[in-house]
Amino acid sequence: MVIGAGVVGLSIAWLLQHQGHRVTLVDPTGTGPQPPQAGSSAALGLLMARIYRRSSGRGWRLRQRSLELWTSWRQQLGAAGHPLPWRPGLLQLAADADAFAAQTRLAAERARRGLTLQPLAAETLAALSPCLPSGAVGGLFSPDDGQLDPLPAMAALRADAIERGLELVANGAGAIERQAGADRWRLALAGGGWLQTPWLVLSAGLGCPALLDPLGHHRPHVPVLGQALELQLPAGTPDPCQWPGSVSWGGVNLVPRPGGRLWLGATLEPPAGEPPLAQASAAELASLRDLGGSAPDWLRQATVLRHWQGLRARPHGAPAPLLEELEPGLLLASGHYRNGVLLAPATAEWVAERIAAGSGLSGISGSP
Ligand SMILES: Cc1cc2nc3c(=O)[nH]c(=O)nc-3n(C[C@H](O)[C@H](O)[C@H](O)COP(=O)(O)OP(=O)(O)OC[C@H]3O[C@@H](n4cnc5c(N)ncnc54)[C@H](O)[C@@H]3O)c2cc1C
Repeated sequence: MVIGAGVVGLSIAWLLQHQGHRVTLVDPTGTGPQPPQAGSSAALGLLMARIYRRSSGRGWRLRQRSLELWTSWRQQLGAAGHPLPWRPGLLQLAADADAFAAQTRLAAERARRGLTLQPLAAETLAALSPCLPSGAVGGLFSPDDGQLDPLPAMAALRADAIERGLELVANGAGAIERQAGADRWRLALAGGGWLQTPWLVLSAGLGCPALLDPLGHHRPHVPVLGQALELQLPAGTPDPCQWPGSVSWGGVNLVPRPGGRLWLGATLEPPAGEPPLAQASAAELASLRDLGGSAPDWLRQATVLRHWQGLRARPHGAPAPLLEELEPGLLLASGHYRNGVLLAPATAEWVAERIAAGSGLSGISGSP
């Protein structure tokens, strides 16, 4: 039984169902839209694996594995009639010479591993159309990273898993308890009734702490606000889909969309010691809109079609994500913070491996 049907829970349910398990997925939203504060349906879907600044540790391994798995999952889901919209390529811009030098070193390090990252000089960037934000002195292009549309991806995972027998329970999970004298977990549904299972996987994002606290497992999550805008570019603007991929600049991600549109997205961390933000201020939105003052004219003239926000679950005092077998048969897979879309497949694989191993207490440990 999997609790929570964001991209993480759906990935877990899909993989387990594929492997021949009988899976029940519990989420009050059922097949409908996620609640507004959920992360997955707000996400831009960038998969930043090769361009990750570290080259070892758990975070590195999970990212690389997830990128591989998304490639094979895209093929499998496409062959089953559920194609996943995917735009390859990611270009990270450097604001100063030091940042560009670090990018160049990272490219050399990746080359030694046989992985491609390409430093692009300012002259190469200047040739791109439409023109990039002003101020970049260089950039790093990753052809293997890219962008996956989260909503169609979730719909594809859900539809394929349902075709393979996934049971969806449109209800909230209330209390969970270990069934006395049996290797089973009992789950009280918010709408009444109980379900039982030998394996309970918690992938309810910010909903996890309330389910775990009564069991004595305190895993606080901090909600971190993410903002996004969809813009319609002025008629006659060259299509940003001609860029080699999505662009990352000064903490803002720019994702080219079909039909002359562009998504802009950014994370809003509260100042140190301040409570989490619930809403972006007008000034923060304006800064996102004009890329902190570096937006080119064509972007300033664009029309805002849509504004949305969502919450990223950041584990408090622990590296993201939380992958732990808390008790026999009770698995936690949450706190994916800024990379839940990327990390969903490797998370699902970890869950499947724990279930296959069938016993023993462990988590993926080590430095993030
Ligand atoms: C604006 C924005 C942009 C982002 N961009 C990216 C990106 O480019 N790339 C990337 O990899 N990540 C990105 N992220 C982060 C990513 O969205 C999250 O890490 C990811 O969505 C987490 O997925 P999840 O399934 O764990 O949680 P969620 O999507 O939050 O899903 C949790 C689910 O649990 C359910 N639930 C909660 N409580 C209960 C309960 N008691 N019983 C049953 N169900 C329950 C909820 O209804 C919800 O459907 C972005 C996030 C935001 C906000």
